[in-house]
Amino acid sequence: MRRYLLLFVDGVGLAPATSANPLATVPMPALASALGGPLTSESVGRRGDGVALAALDATLGVPGLPQSATGQTALFTGVNAPAALGRHVAAFPGPRLAALLAAGSVLRRAAEAGRRVAFANAFSPAYFEEVAAGRRRHSATTLAALAAVAAGARLRDLDDLAAGRACSWDVRRDHLRRFAPGVAPVADREAGGHLAALAATHHLVLWETFMTDLAGHLRRGWTAAEALERLDGLLDGVLAALPAGLTVLLVSDHGNLEAGEHPRHTANPVPLLAIGPDAAAFADLARVDELAPRLLARLAVPL
Ligand SMILES: [Zn+2]
Repeated sequence: MRRYLLLFVDGVGLAPATSANPLATVPMPALASALGGPLTSESVGRRGDGVALAALDATLGVPGLPQSATGQTALFTGVNAPAALGRHVAAFPGPRLAALLAAGSVLRRAAEAGRRVAFANAFSPAYFEEVAAGRRRHSATTLAALAAVAAGARLRDLDDLAAGRACSWDVRRDHLRRFAPGVAPVADREAGGHLAALAATHHLVLWETFMTDLAGHLRRGWTAAEALERLDGLLDGVLAALPAGLTVLLVSDHGNLEAGEHPRHTANPVPLLAIGPDAAAFADLARVDELAPRLLARLAVPL
């Protein structure tokens, strides 16, 4: 059976390898070794033994800059969410996007067809308290996972994290530790190993990070170098322990970090980097809303 680990990396587009593009200037040895080059537009179309890089259109024919709520909904449902709403919607989904995710989440559809799915992110008690108090809203990715709860998925907690069955959005857990001081820190590679172990016992595992989008917006102290170093270390740990049959898919929802000269989103295409035995099956994708149906097809889930 094929297995997939979907690394959703918020706010990373594809641009030429200039001195203003952190994807070209920050060392990412694990990614560069797997891809045979940097995660820049020059590498698009590169195909090797078990690796492929496609450039996905994130605008989906809708004017304006792509945003997280509609972009993630398109990624995880296959629905052209910005076209359905008539605009790109930033940050967190409202009722209409939440309804699309509840009905069409790739995690839910795979789980209902009997595939083992998991959302790898770990959440602290403080997170759920904030949501319950109305001070915080779920991301589209979290809603895509919540849609699969009735079919056997669940949100992971700090016990999962301590047992190596989950991964924090910030990889090293230092940002998580501000809300959960008892959590032990972890090295990037070790965190990647935890994701690989989780992927070895599931058909589809999703992990989300937004440290890249925060770095692109120059927010909360994140720099591009810090975010990309963590991401590359995580990928290194995943690839070092790559379970048999597992294909890693790294994808984003909109551009941002690649434009180091300004702190805003871009209309650049986003990467779909596939590494593993089924990489070639994703090389021809051209839009962010094409990923979910292709994943379901590769998992032999009826569309
Ligand atoms: Zn953003």
